[in-house]
Amino acid sequence: MKNLWAPWRRQYVTQADADSASCFLCQAVEHDHVSQERGIVHIAEHSVIILNKYPYSSGHLLVAPKAHNGDLLDLDDITYACLMQSVRLASRAVTHVYKPHGLNIGMNLGSAAGAGVPDHCHVHVVPRWDGDTNFMPVVANVKVASEKLEDTWQRVTEAIGLNGQVGL
Ligand SMILES: [Zn+2]
Repeated sequence: MKNLWAPWRRQYVTQADADSASCFLCQAVEHDHVSQERGIVHIAEHSVIILNKYPYSSGHLLVAPKAHNGDLLDLDDITYACLMQSVRLASRAVTHVYKPHGLNIGMNLGSAAGAGVPDHCHVHVVPRWDGDTNFMPVVANVKVASEKLEDTWQRVTEAIGLNGQVGL
């Protein structure tokens, strides 16, 4: 009689469940409305904009599809379009509030590319100024932030309230 006991399977299954349940992006989606406590600044039909709790710079936003999916290429056209509209809205808000000299907009797809949450793809929107450091510290989780997250949330949600009227 063969022993079918495979404890590593149990660990695998438990871990898979935990990954989805503990995904902070999914938790934001589940909440489904703007919330200072959770750092949610905007909810669209298929995407969400939240504050990065560990910002590289003030105004560092994350834009994610509502679907728990780590692969950008798996998103259907409607979700992809909604995600990109939210990226544009986030960029407008950050530009309105912080008047940066530039923006970094980017994704780290997969752990090898530096994704902190590889199973739920998300776009970083990071305001940049002349003379600050390059984009690599964003990937390496170096944090240089001068503003409290509550203040960032307040300013960005107010800006989205204004800019949300402009065709979005
Ligand atoms: Zn998720």
